[in-house]
Amino acid sequence: MTDLLRAYEDVVGPRPVDQLRQLAGLLAGQSVVHVNSTRSGGGVAEILEKLVPLTQELGIEVHWEVIEGEADFYQCTKSFHNGLQGTPVEVPERLLQVYEETNARNAERLRERLQEADFVVIHDPQPAPLLGLIPGRKGRWIWRCHIDLSHPHLPVWRYVKRHVTGYDASVFSLASFARSLPHPQYIIPPSIDPLSEKNMELPPSEPRGVAEEHGIDPDRPIVLQVSRFDRFKDPVGVVRAYRLARKFTPGLQLVLAGGTATDDPEGAEVLAEVNEAANGDPDIHILLLPPDAHRTINALQRVADIVVQKSLREGFGLTVTEGMWKGKPVIGGDAGGIRIQLTDHHTGFRVGSPEGAALRIRQLFQDRELRGRIGGTAREFVRENFLITRLLREHLTVFHALMRGEEDRVDLTTPWAVPADREAAGVEPMGGGAGAGGRR
Ligand code: UDP
Repeated sequence: MTDLLRAYEDVVGPRPVDQLRQLAGLLAGQSVVHVNSTRSGGGVAEILEKLVPLTQELGIEVHWEVIEGEADFYQCTKSFHNGLQGTPVEVPERLLQVYEETNARNAERLRERLQEADFVVIHDPQPAPLLGLIPGRKGRWIWRCHIDLSHPHLPVWRYVKRHVTGYDASVFSLASFARSLPHPQYIIPPSIDPLSEKNMELPPSEPRGVAEEHGIDPDRPIVLQVSRFDRFKDPVGVVRAYRLARKFTPGLQLVLAGGTATDDPEGAEVLAEVNEAANGDPDIHILLLPPDAHRTINALQRVADIVVQKSLREGFGLTVTEGMWKGKPVIGGDAGGIRIQLTDHHTGFRVGSPEGAALRIRQLFQDRELRGRIGGTAREFVRENFLITRLLREHLTVFHALMRGEEDRVDLTTPWAVPADREAAGVEPMGGGAGAGGRR
């Protein structure tokens, strides 16, 4: 086994890695191409950075292609992004033309690879028209939409839909994000990478050190929210909750960690509102961190006693997953993907108001055993459901489903899938044969 697979095995245990090898075994010889619009920055690139090498290690040929465009192209796709998430935008005809021409140029460049691949995964709307620009394609094409399409601005969706209708399947992050399309749709929730800087284990002294560097006392109670200064993340509501909870939790500190808001006028406005609400309270720490402060955020999540994500609207809520993975009780807003992560009293708490959040903060600080139990359950819940190994397993499963969808039964057994100890005991693999998987 390779070092990378072994590193994941150390985190998730041998079974999930075995499952991956089993699924990959029957995809041997198949080739996969992922296409998106940026090599770095943004959630999609972050996922592909890990997913591609991990797929490769499993013996599947995989390539990652990035389409190239000029400023007008990105202006157009940014408008799509806003429109698809519900903002009423109008995209001028001229920009639509740039969008289509840019895709045509990229299709020329990528033609051979895309024609030959067994599976092509197109991420988000930027490269969506490629499908119609590659005649004689050999493989199955999947549109992987990372955007919340639940309430799109319809003229934008109608336009994008024209380009994605012909795909063999599409994948959405949550059932509520999907729209009706004339092909199979799969739901694959996001995941985090346990080996990334944001989530890896840290030396025990580091979280305390990072807290102290930022003027936070690691020996007093800490509540943390990590998020952009955005009204939907309700940072002012978090300040209110802190004020209420502080009456019952002496020495409580609140840390609001977010990015610098200089390039986002609305962010600057929200930050001003938060500063006003904080009103100079020395126990409210508003941290403006650079975009690559992953390790600092990791440390803050580890030094906090409680993680809050009091969103009023939310896509998935990766900060919730990150907090849970660090064994913290998380209090989240009752919105979007937070609903599939936090179950009251079990993996965390969901709240609908600052008062509700304050109540849960108070309850958790009064009950150390409850904090430990919820934090422990949350970590195991993430281990099983929201790590990148699960994401890859589901990707491979979709490939199988598309490859063998017409079969009554799919046998995913490979001869080497029998663990060594069972093999020694003379146990035959189920299905008994090499490359099983045909119609019985
Ligand atoms: N994040 C960060 N710096 C910040 C704020 C957030 O690195 O100042 C990270 C955070 O740790 C998480 C992601 O950005 O990984 C935010 O994802 P989430 O789904 O929580 O919210 P979004 O910003 O996508 O609405």
